[in-house]
Amino acid sequence: MNLNIRTGLLVAFIAVGLLPLAGLTWLTYERTLAREFNEVKDRHLLLAENLSSALSRYERDLRTTVKTISSTLGRTGKVENSQELLNTLGIQSVSIVDPKTGDILHSSANSKFSNELLAMIKGYATTSNFEFTPVFKLSQGINALFLVAKSGENIAVAQISTKYFQELGKEISFGEKGHAAIVDQHGNVLSHPLDHWVKAAKNISAVSAVKRMMNGETGVERFYSPALEGDMIAGLTVVPGPGWGVMIPQPISELEAKAFANLMPLLAGFLIAILLTIISIRVSMRWLARPLENFNSDLQEQLQSGVPKAVAPCRAHSNIVELQEIVGAYNELARTVDNHASELAKRVYEDTVTGIGNRAYFTNGSKEQIRFRTSQEKRGVLIFLDLDGFKEINDVRGHSVGDAVLKAFAQSLYPAAKRFMDQKFRGITGTHPIIGRFGGDEFAILLPIPCDTENVAEICEELRDAVSKPVRIDGIDIPCNVSAGGAIYPDHGESVDELVRRADVALYRAKSKGKGGFVLYNRRNALGGKSEILAAVTNAIENDELILEYQPKFCLKNQDVTGVEALLRWQHPVHGRLTPDLFLNAIQKTNVMRKLGDWVAARAISEAIELENAGYPLKVAINIGTEHFSETDFVPSLIEKCEARDFPADRIQIEITEDVMDTSRTHFKETVENLQQNGFTVAIDDFGRGFSNLTRLANIPVDVIKLDRSLIDEASSNERVQALLNSSVEMAHALGSAVIVEGVETLDQVKMAELAGADALQGFYYSASLTSGNLLDWMEARAANVPHQQFAKLNKSFG
Ligand code: C2E
Ligand code: CA
Ligand code: CA
Repeated sequence: MNLNIRTGLLVAFIAVGLLPLAGLTWLTYERTLAREFNEVKDRHLLLAENLSSALSRYERDLRTTVKTISSTLGRTGKVENSQELLNTLGIQSVSIVDPKTGDILHSSANSKFSNELLAMIKGYATTSNFEFTPVFKLSQGINALFLVAKSGENIAVAQISTKYFQELGKEISFGEKGHAAIVDQHGNVLSHPLDHWVKAAKNISAVSAVKRMMNGETGVERFYSPALEGDMIAGLTVVPGPGWGVMIPQPISELEAKAFANLMPLLAGFLIAILLTIISIRVSMRWLARPLENFNSDLQEQLQSGVPKAVAPCRAHSNIVELQEIVGAYNELARTVDNHASELAKRVYEDTVTGIGNRAYFTNGSKEQIRFRTSQEKRGVLIFLDLDGFKEINDVRGHSVGDAVLKAFAQSLYPAAKRFMDQKFRGITGTHPIIGRFGGDEFAILLPIPCDTENVAEICEELRDAVSKPVRIDGIDIPCNVSAGGAIYPDHGESVDELVRRADVALYRAKSKGKGGFVLYNRRNALGGKSEILAAVTNAIENDELILEYQPKFCLKNQDVTGVEALLRWQHPVHGRLTPDLFLNAIQKTNVMRKLGDWVAARAISEAIELENAGYPLKVAINIGTEHFSETDFVPSLIEKCEARDFPADRIQIEITEDVMDTSRTHFKETVENLQQNGFTVAIDDFGRGFSNLTRLANIPVDVIKLDRSLIDEASSNERVQALLNSSVEMAHALGSAVIVEGVETLDQVKMAELAGADALQGFYYSASLTSGNLLDWMEARAANVPHQQFAKLNKSFG
C-alpha cells in the first residue's frame, strides 16, 4: 500500500497516540460500570432485606393487636383505650361480622362492608388463624387490606390502611429514580413511586422481578420496567408469612451515567491528546512534509519537461540535514546532466567534417521555421545543393583535400546565404537561412523568403552563383560549382521530409541535365515520361503502393448516403499521395489500364465487404478505362470476382466515359446489356464535359448519367448553363436514366441540383474522398447526429 507523507504521518500519530488512549478509556469505562453493578447488587439487596424485616415486624404487631382486640370484642362487645394503638398501626377498624347476614355484630369503629366486599373477604377466613387478604380498592378511592379469621360462628375482620406501606416505601429513595416497590402476595402494588399505580393497586406480577418475589425468591434481577420505560436492576426479597414482595430497583442508565461521569478526567485527557496530535501533525508537516512535497512537485514538473534543473533552495527550505543533502546532491546531478546534454546536443547536431549543422540540425531548425511561416500563410524554399565534380577532386587530390574543400565550402555557405537574403530581402525580420550538410557533397539551405513558382528559379540561380566561389586550399584555387534543386513550401509539401525528398528529386533532374543547373520540383515531370510512368505504375501495383479512396454519394430521395465512388490514389514513396490525373494519361490505352481496373475491382469488392460487416452495405461505383471496358473478357472476369467473394452484382456500378461509345458502338451496347443482365448497373461519367450527345445515348439505356462538375460549377453564375443543367436532367430522365450531379461544393449548388430534379449528389459539400477507414468513421459520425444537421441545413435553405 502506498501512502503519501501526510497520510502516513496522520496514520502513525493515530496509531501511536490516539488508539492506545482510546482503548484505555474504553477499558476504564467498562471496569467502572462493572464495579457499579457489583455495588448495586449488595446495596440493593441489603436495603430490600431491611425493608422486609421492618414489614415482618409490622405484620407481627398487626396480628397480635388484631387478635387481642377481636377476642375482647367477641367477649365484651366493645373495646376501650385501644384507639391510639390502632391508629399507630393503621388499623382502621376491628369488627365481628355475621357471615350469613353480613350484619356487623361488634366493631371498634362505625365500619360498614359492602356485600360484595364481604363476599370476597369471607373466603380468606378459613380457620381461627388470621390471614391477610390482598389489597382491595374501596369505594372512597382508598385502598386497604384485611386481616381475617373465624371467630366461632362469626368472622373477625380488621381493615388495615396501606398508608404505612407507602410511607415505608417512600423512605427509601436514592439516585434520580431509585425507589422501593412493595407488592402484596398477588403482585398488586402497595407502594410505588407512580401514585396512580398505588391508587389503582395495579397488578405487576408480569414483571420478571415480581414473578421471582411471588416465587418466594431473594436475589438481584435485571428487567425492563414499563413504568420507567427502561432497563432496571433490582434487589428483591419477600416478607415470609403474608408473602408480600419487596424490591429496590434502579435504572441501569443511572449506573452508566455514573460510570461515565467517573470517566470525565480521562476524557478530558483524551481530548487534549487529540489536540496535541493535531498540533504535532501540523508541526511535522511544516517541518518534514512540506519541503518534501515541494521538492517532489519540482521534480514532477521537471519530469514533464524532461529537463533536470536545480531546485531553488527556498522550495526545499528545511533544517533536516538529510533533506538538505538530497537537494544538494540532486542539484549537482542536474548540473552534470545539463552539461552533458549540451555537449551531446552539440555532437548530435554538428557535422564532424565541416563543423556546420548536420541533417538532424537542419531538419529540426527548418521544422520550426516552416511551421511558423506557413501558419502566417507565407512561403519559402528548400534548396538542395550538390558540388559538381567533387568525386574528381577526391580522386585526384586525395580525401584530405576533399575534406578541406567540403569544410571551406560549408563554412562559406551561411555567410553567403545570409548576405544574399539581407541584400535581396531586406526587411524580413526574425528569419535567417538554415544550413546543413546531408552527407557526401550534399548540402541543404532553407530560405524563408517570399517566392513562388514564377520567381523562384531566378532567386535560386542567383543564390547558386553567390555560393559557387572557388576555395583556396594549400595555395591552390579549387572551383566549387554546384547544381541545385528546389521545392517551395507549402506548394510542394508542408513537412521538412517531404520538401527534402522533392528538392532531392529536382536536384537529380538538374544533375541529369548537366552541371551548374537548377530545377524546381514539379509533380508532373517528377514522375518522368510516359514509359517511366508505365513501369512505375506496374511496380506500384506489385508493391502495393496503390489505395482506393471513397467519395460518398448522397441520395436525395432517401436523404442518405447510399453509395460511394472508388477513386484511385498512389502512395508514392518519394512524391507522397498522388491523384490519378498525374499518371492515368500515361497509361491510357495500354494493358496496364486493364491490370489497374482488375486491381480496383478486386480491392473495391473486398473493402465493400468490410464496410458491410461494419453495418454499411453501400453501393460501390468503379471507374473503368475505355480499353479495359472494350475487352471481351471484361464482364466475365468481373462476374468471376463477385462470385469469388459472394458479392452481389447489383452493389457494383461501372462508370465509363462517353468516348467508349466511339470505340465501338455495337460492342458498347452489347457490353452494357451484358452487365445489366448480370445485375450490374452502368453510369456514363463526366456527361457534358466534351461534346456530349444525348441522342447517342438514346439507343442504349444506361442506368445512371453523371453530369460533369463543370455544369453545376457554371450554372450558379450563368443562367444559360442553368437551363442546360435543367434540361439535361429532364432528358436523362426521359431516357430512363437516373441523374447524379457531380462536384457540388456549396449549399447553393445543392439547392440548384435538387431543383433541377437530380436523383443524387456527389461533391466536396458532402465529403471529399476518404480512405475506407475514414469513411467508416464518417458514416458512424453521421449515423450518430449529422443527418439531422443535413436536414436542418436543407430545410433552412428551402424554407
Ligand atoms: P471522376 O470519375 O470524374 O471523379 C471525380 C473527381 O472529381 C475526383 O477526382 C474527385 O476527387 C473530384 N471531385 C469530387 N467532388 C468534387 C468537388 O466537389 N469539387 C472538385 N473540384 N472536385 C471534386 P480524382 O480523384 O482526382 O479523380 C480524377 C479522375 O480520375 C476521375 O474523375 C476518374 O476519371 C479518374 N479515376 C479515378 N479513379 C480511377 C480508377 O480507379 N480507375 C480509372 N480508370 N480512373 C479513375
Ligand atoms: Ca467517375
Ligand atoms: Ca466524373
